[in-house]
Amino acid sequence: MTFNWRIVMAPRRLIEYVTAHEACHLIHNNHSQGFWRLLARVMPDCETRRIELAVEGAKFQL
Ligand SMILES: [Zn+2]
Repeated sequence: MTFNWRIVMAPRRLIEYVTAHEACHLIHNNHSQGFWRLLARVMPDCETRRIELAVEGAKFQL
């Protein structure tokens, strides 16, 4: 897994989201329904965090 170094400046819950997202890509190398189902299983509030990342991520140039 590779990460944008700027992620270290983000709130912990967004770092957790990015980490879980990338970990799920180890199983599903795409954004298929299976990928999102898996992510939701390991992180039930992933949709909330995804939206937060879309909003907050711009601050950190992610
Ligand atoms: Zn992805």
